[in-house]
Amino acid sequence: MNALPPHPPAVRTTCPYCGVGCGVLAAPDGHGGATIAGDPAHPANSGLLCSKGAALAETLSLGRRLLHPMLRQPDGSLARIGWDPALEKVAGGLRAILERDGPAAIAFYLSGQLLTEDYYVANKLMKGFLGSSNVDTNSRLCMASSVAGHRRAFGADIVPGIYRDIDEADLIVLVGSNAAWCHPVLYQRMMRAKRDRRAKLVVIDPRRTATAADADLFLPIAPGMDTALFCGLLAYLADTLSLDYNYIDAHTAGFVEALARAREIAPDVTATADATKLDRADVTRFFELFCATPRVVTCFSQGVNQSAQGTDKVNAIINVHLATGRIGRPGMGPFSLTGQPNAMGGREVGGLANQLAAHMGFSPAELDRVRRFWNAPRMAAHEGLKAVDLFEAIERGKIKALWVMATNPAVSLPRAAAMREALKKLELFVVSENVLSNDTVEAGAHVLLPAASWGEKDGTVTNSERRISRQRAFLPLPGEARPDWWIVSEVARRLGFDTAFNYSGAADVFREHAALSAFENKGERDFDIGGLASLSDAAYDALDPVMWPARADQSRGEERFFAAGEFFTGDRRARFVAPERPRPRAATNHAFPLRLNTGRLRDQWHTMTRTGASPRLCAHSPEPFIEIHPADAKASKLTDGGFAKLTTRHGSAILKVAVTSGQQRGSIFAPIHWSGATAPHARIGELVAPANDPFSGQPELKTTPARAEAIEFAYRGFALTRHPIAVPPGTWFARAAVAGGEGLLFATNEPPDFWHSLALKLMGEEDEIAEYVDQSRGVIRVAGFRSGRLHGCIFVGPAKTAPRWDVVRSLFEAGVLAERERRLLLSGGSGDGLPETGPVICACYGVGLGAIRKAVASGEAASVADIGRTLRAGTNCGSCVAELRAIIEQTAKAAETRVRVKPPPVPASA
Ligand code: SF4
Repeated sequence: MNALPPHPPAVRTTCPYCGVGCGVLAAPDGHGGATIAGDPAHPANSGLLCSKGAALAETLSLGRRLLHPMLRQPDGSLARIGWDPALEKVAGGLRAILERDGPAAIAFYLSGQLLTEDYYVANKLMKGFLGSSNVDTNSRLCMASSVAGHRRAFGADIVPGIYRDIDEADLIVLVGSNAAWCHPVLYQRMMRAKRDRRAKLVVIDPRRTATAADADLFLPIAPGMDTALFCGLLAYLADTLSLDYNYIDAHTAGFVEALARAREIAPDVTATADATKLDRADVTRFFELFCATPRVVTCFSQGVNQSAQGTDKVNAIINVHLATGRIGRPGMGPFSLTGQPNAMGGREVGGLANQLAAHMGFSPAELDRVRRFWNAPRMAAHEGLKAVDLFEAIERGKIKALWVMATNPAVSLPRAAAMREALKKLELFVVSENVLSNDTVEAGAHVLLPAASWGEKDGTVTNSERRISRQRAFLPLPGEARPDWWIVSEVARRLGFDTAFNYSGAADVFREHAALSAFENKGERDFDIGGLASLSDAAYDALDPVMWPARADQSRGEERFFAAGEFFTGDRRARFVAPERPRPRAATNHAFPLRLNTGRLRDQWHTMTRTGASPRLCAHSPEPFIEIHPADAKASKLTDGGFAKLTTRHGSAILKVAVTSGQQRGSIFAPIHWSGATAPHARIGELVAPANDPFSGQPELKTTPARAEAIEFAYRGFALTRHPIAVPPGTWFARAAVAGGEGLLFATNEPPDFWHSLALKLMGEEDEIAEYVDQSRGVIRVAGFRSGRLHGCIFVGPAKTAPRWDVVRSLFEAGVLAERERRLLLSGGSGDGLPETGPVICACYGVGLGAIRKAVASGEAASVADIGRTLRAGTNCGSCVAELRAIIEQTAKAAETRVRVKPPPVPASA
């Protein structure tokens, strides 16, 4: 008997999405993919993964990968070249521009997706050897205001607390954070604290999000008014003698000025309620709760950071924790939730234009220290340009060479369309990427360098609680893909810096990074991982998650900061900051009466280059949309399920309309994820104004003045095909991955005949075609079967009665169809006997709305727990729990209505 092949052991690695930094066990499946599970031994998640992490195996396909270096040809096409000429092209281009125009003319734009080792090498080359600090990162759009707030208050960019504080808190305050969707595994810890120790949850957000649904107190604050709320709280704490004067006296400076400013902005509860447009009783309840609860953790995220006054908001939050001494002790402290997997690691190595390396700045002493450590021939002398300024410098022709690594700024930056045009001016435009095509590549990149992707990369990332974890490779490098640190080092060597960039591997880079953190560091610098500077390659390979600081002279463990002061300022005292009065940056007016708030969805990440490949992640919200309050929808003549044209001073987009009272009046919300590849009419970055925070340079992404107008299409439909198809210009569409192919949801003014012809053209000779045509109603349904499977189809109908794609999609994803299913397919709906699946609500277990409604309506499930028991929905990451609760309520209400309108029974005698 043949022995079974050995099952490859699972590799311990880290999720590549959000800043929670969950540990993942990945076992190669032998076919280029992997099986994925949460790592029970990782302290960030103890084995739990959210829907995005759990679907990682669906994102490993090489279908869209960039596998070889490519060079743009004179005719605009891209042609494959070897690594040597590609690297020579980059090095030669940088050298020529540097010699002619100086270091201010070159720039790198990096990413919180990069590993620390990649970031370190890129930053070293630019700031130490090319003499420019124009190294910025997409983290500037994410958490730069937290960095600036930390540095102003603490003298260093440090998160004082650890995740365990969330387990040990009695009050958790979430400000501008939809943690249920954006940090789902950490959010489950919050839910556990609520359940196990009866911690209270206060959610402060202009939008009633999934997170707000779980709150004990939800404060629907007016956009941009967080500073006023926390100033009001500081004044209240002072008035009720709830301050910790011992802590203030011993460890801080600037309290008197900060309190005076707080009293100017929001002197009492009434003034706070007026400024924030909150109910006075709710403000009082929040203030009382905060006063009465020593163990309070205030978590904040993009709703605070992505603001033209984001740094002041961060400091207003930190102020109340300093004033009560609630910092650095179990269950208490301000806590910045990082968006990206390695935003923290990027900050550690100086991945921001206003940092040098290892949390050092640009003082003469720090410049000299880093210069000596690197033996650097050409140190940058001052801070460089931050992201928005950097791209505007490209627009003005000041920056002539740009190297983008692992990010898609042509979609994500404010005024993204103008930025795409600006990129065309570059003399040298290099992109290190995983994918063959995205908006940035299509903006005219001259050289494409194939970079390793998640699963192939080897290095470290640091999560929101300062925990450094290994990302380990469990798949071979495909094609000619290489790690980013290797690519940058090879360019550096071709520029003549062979000795300084002669790394033997990621461990070698890490050791140098760790040694720099400890170099001439007698405890005056917060970031010190000198204890890891002499790890052998084997020890680096085996490294368990470790929290920094990890000094050479200390045992490793979890360290909180600042319970006993010892801040990283000259006098070791924290600084209270007197914030500016909060104000909306750009006023709304008659032309632009609404405020556009942008954000993320539960199951998508950034511009969907990875999550967009996962059928189950695409099944939750397959189309781009805006959320709008019913009154605003009525005023703008928008209907739920229709389309809106959204316009700002910078651009426009066309989106589906979702009318919801969860949205405040005057505010609309749109997700950021869609790109030219997935929905070219729905690129939200194009609409956003470039208003930057003066301290952090982080752009305001939450309150761009906008207007929404109804837009009509005559027909709507969908195509399900085994390969992507093109549609005529003018067609509005959104692409979504489906198992075994691609889905295209579209809206069009092309007549059904056009789609009928297109469908027939798409079918192969071997396809057995079934069609339903109703010319009078404008309905076309064409399906092609191959070997009993649905091979492809196009369904089109009048926009108002658009065909539903859920049922047909599940048949497309199924194997061979039964005769009955084939017959019912063209009916296009559940009314004819096929089970209605609806959009997927629980992505972890692929449970659709139809099944949930059915379980509730039949009485089988009356609670979230019942749904979990019967369908498993909501029992893994829990991020759909709020939706489950809403479905139960809606279904119950619908049943109640049906009972009410039921006609009285006819008397037997009638
Ligand atoms: S919460 Fe989800 S996205 Fe974030 S790290 Fe964990 S598994 Fe990944």
